[in-house]
Amino acid sequence: MGAGDYYEILEVPRTAGEKEIKKAYRNLARKYHPDVCKEAGAEEKFKQINEAYSVLSDEQKRAQYDQMGHETFTNASKGSYAGGGGAYGGGFNADFSGFGDIFDTFFGGARGGGPRGPQRGDDLLMRIQIPLDQAVAGVDREIEVYHTEPCEACGGTGSETRNLHTCTRCGGSGQMRQASQTIFGQFVRTAPCTECGGRGRVPDKVCKPCGGSGHTRVRRKVNVHIPAGIDNGMRLRMEGYGEAGDYGAQNGDLYIEVQVLPHDRFVRSGDNLETLVEISPAQAVLGSTIEVQTIDKRTVELKIPAGVQFNTALKIPGEGVKRRGRPGDLLVRVRIVTPKQLKDEEKELYRQILEIEGKKHQKSGKKGFFQDIMGKVKDR
Ligand SMILES: [Zn+2]
Ligand SMILES: [Zn+2]
Repeated sequence: MGAGDYYEILEVPRTAGEKEIKKAYRNLARKYHPDVCKEAGAEEKFKQINEAYSVLSDEQKRAQYDQMGHETFTNASKGSYAGGGGAYGGGFNADFSGFGDIFDTFFGGARGGGPRGPQRGDDLLMRIQIPLDQAVAGVDREIEVYHTEPCEACGGTGSETRNLHTCTRCGGSGQMRQASQTIFGQFVRTAPCTECGGRGRVPDKVCKPCGGSGHTRVRRKVNVHIPAGIDNGMRLRMEGYGEAGDYGAQNGDLYIEVQVLPHDRFVRSGDNLETLVEISPAQAVLGSTIEVQTIDKRTVELKIPAGVQFNTALKIPGEGVKRRGRPGDLLVRVRIVTPKQLKDEEKELYRQILEIEGKKHQKSGKKGFFQDIMGKVKDR
């Protein structure tokens, strides 16, 4: 995704509200929709508009975008081939985004340009699973991708001499018109040329290792940096790591969809994490300071206020998901656990409390929950 600033693409000020952004998007999308607009570059423009809108219409993504800036946001992750090499060379970027889905919907997967000429390589989608603690902290992973690359023997041309000539059957257009005579009249349809497969050019001498396709299928180990804060279902786009394109055309992209596995002690909610602690009734009544383990296994102190109620979420600021700029919080939910086995001494003390509570409620004269219960106790 080349393009510039998302606000500029949508032609709105940085302070634009939700409605203004939506309106601008609608107008532009209508104007540049590939079915409507025949201007050169309309499809690219349409993609940019959708990309910009997908971010600016999402409160969380927009905040992230504003914090990170355009460059950082769109290049939050970098990938490279393990051990160097690879037939492409050069730098590849990975978007920390999830735009892929939107394009798939709009273009029905047909992102390869028209039926003529060299075709862009197909995109690949891979799913990986990572545990929650790695999603929170970010992690480098080596993945194995099985894709096509330009054939080394012929440099991707498909021709042993590396020379291609214009297809004589279609004259280089890559298309053939087929006329068929039916009882309703003559029908003409166009189809990709069978001689050149729609490419318009054919090898002078077919390269043996690749059979003229110009591609070989290889397994490659790829280093992927998964940025901290990645969420379930997000996709990393590794530009150019998909299937090789026809000679002279772009490679497809590799999308890595991240599935975050559930953690046994932490649950994610936006940029916050949630966990549980168990405390005794006495701790709940009188308050206490306890130790809580963070997701990266550090120990932090948490002050439990006197009189805390069951399921109250106590906040430890900044111990949530740390995305650039604004880290989330850790919410510690309090479970008050009733002790089942008590020493005689403890039992005696609870009995005393119960008695005091009974008297207290008798005096106040108010009918309420406690009084009902105490009443029954006294009757026994
Ligand atoms: Zn070859
Ligand atoms: Zn042809």
